[in-house]
Amino acid sequence: MPGFREHITGSTIVGIGYGAAAWYVGEVPPLTCLLGTGLCSVAGMLPDLDSGPGIPMRESVAFAAAVTPVMLLPRLEQFGLPTEAVILVCGAIYLAIRFGVTYLLKEFAVHRGMFHSIPAAAIAGFTAFLVFAAQEPMHRYFVASAVVLGFLTHLILDEIWSVKMGMFGPKIKKSFGTAVKFLGNEAWANIVTYLLVIILGALAANDAAVTEQLSVVRQQVEQASRQYPATPGLQPVYRR
Ligand SMILES: [Zn+2]
Repeated sequence: MPGFREHITGSTIVGIGYGAAAWYVGEVPPLTCLLGTGLCSVAGMLPDLDSGPGIPMRESVAFAAAVTPVMLLPRLEQFGLPTEAVILVCGAIYLAIRFGVTYLLKEFAVHRGMFHSIPAAAIAGFTAFLVFAAQEPMHRYFVASAVVLGFLTHLILDEIWSVKMGMFGPKIKKSFGTAVKFLGNEAWANIVTYLLVIILGALAANDAAVTEQLSVVRQQVEQASRQYPATPGLQPVYRR
């Protein structure tokens, strides 16, 4: 089984490639590319949240607890909350993730259960999409895809590590097929996972529609302001 270091190395390399490609193509601004690279790298740790108390779990939960409130800031601003409320909400989110998620993971997560699965990668992507409320729809898709990519890199690395070269060709370990999968052994875990996929998917689709509309309106406003620039001569002159 590849360890923490192999996973973070793998997803970081993939993340750098992903960010560099997006930057090279030029449609995505460099800062967004950098964010994509970072999130892809971190997402490479996510599936091993199910491996019980240890470095991957402690570090990923702490990281998520710190970064999620920051990523949610634009969204909180949309609600027009006063600064005090924003600080309180961010603190509450931090505590909920740091302790609530850790508790849930310790209680319910089974190693190589549904955390290592394709629907789990989709859940991670939808969550990233919902949390990251950028103005530009393309940037949201880009960042959410970065998380899915990092997650999938982990699953694929797990599968690659389950094939070992023996004396007589490749040998397949018992763990083969437990990472890249659609269904686990536990019925309740499968149900919860697919329910989350459906709920988060619906929320993300709805949110995507809103962002697309807003972006169309913004483009129209920009176009209109370019077509009818305010000419200084036409401005009313006030005299006392
Ligand atoms: Zn793993």
